[in-house]
Amino acid sequence: KTVEKVPMCHSEQVDNPRICVCVRKRPLNKKELGKKEIDVVTIPGNGVLLFHEPKQKVDLTKYLENQVFHFDYSFDDDANNELVYRYTARPLVRTIFEGGMATCFAYGQTGSGKTHTMGGNFSGKTQNSSKGIYALAAQDVFTLLRHHPDLDPFVSFFEIYNGKVFDLLNKKALLRVMEDEYQQVQVVGLQEISVTCVGDVLKLIERGSACRTSGQTFANANSSRSHAVLQIVLRRHLQLHGKFSLVDLAGNERGSDVKGTDRQTLAETAEINRSLLALKECIRSLGQNHDHIPFRMSKLTQVLRDSFIGENSRTCMIAMISPGMGSCDYTLNTLRYADRVKEL
Ligand code: ADP
Ligand code: MG
Repeated sequence: KTVEKVPMCHSEQVDNPRICVCVRKRPLNKKELGKKEIDVVTIPGNGVLLFHEPKQKVDLTKYLENQVFHFDYSFDDDANNELVYRYTARPLVRTIFEGGMATCFAYGQTGSGKTHTMGGNFSGKTQNSSKGIYALAAQDVFTLLRHHPDLDPFVSFFEIYNGKVFDLLNKKALLRVMEDEYQQVQVVGLQEISVTCVGDVLKLIERGSACRTSGQTFANANSSRSHAVLQIVLRRHLQLHGKFSLVDLAGNERGSDVKGTDRQTLAETAEINRSLLALKECIRSLGQNHDHIPFRMSKLTQVLRDSFIGENSRTCMIAMISPGMGSCDYTLNTLRYADRVKEL
């Protein structure tokens, strides 16, 4: 197997060029290997994913039933962040220079690789392979900015936890979301920091990521229960020109499987489920008449309203897959969700 096994588009006729839906399988981890878990996902390439669902016959003999899923791209466990980026977020960079909104979502259960894909690994040297989509996108934005001296780049980074917005670049300050009379959604007081080079962006990513995971007690937002949104904003004379939103979504595990059934946890889970459902509906209505986009269904979709409207909005979703037998149910949920996002 080589990294260059191209995760090609399964068909030439793309259903909706504004929406790209991909899957990425992570390698089995030490724990799964230790338990000798079966790998239930095969990626033959060409956007195909085979899911080997464990089943049982009436006489209790066990067998695996194959299910085939098709996506725009499917990335096997030997693909690095660079390759995933090249086919997912990178084609969207152009969009923000053309005055559009670009949005890239990492979706999947906790531990499936969302933060690895988006944030990469900042501990240690900044090798290319350990950079995530945040850093790789920032790099390309600055390369293109050389040809656009009239545009100024800014960065903001916030977290949505339990329907509330917290500023990751300002000590998790609680922010209010307001909709003005023109239905423009504003996150009041959100820090939008002017950046002059990739290094500036990397520092902010590091700062925000550290803020996201700091001070976690069980009464606090755990990073797996919150959505993190990094935005690279382009302005011309302070007027909004384009915006790239890179979203590390909360884990999609089902409520019944979440540990603890205290009111706090139940409310969190209900909110996450509501926001992921709203997100699916909003992406599906991308480019349609504004009136039909249900962005008010959740704080996440309300804050990302810009991403779903406008002639020149493009979205990409990367569904992360934990391939172990123990994650079967979650994996099937993830695959079905990703399938629905794309379906017209
Ligand atoms: P999530 O954010 O979805 O909860 P993480 O990104 O934190 O999951 O990933 C969980 C663990 O698996 C981390 O230790 C991460 O480094 C590792 N991991 C995830 N994806 C990959 C991958 N494609 N290759 C190698 N390690 C990975
Ligand atoms: Mg994470």
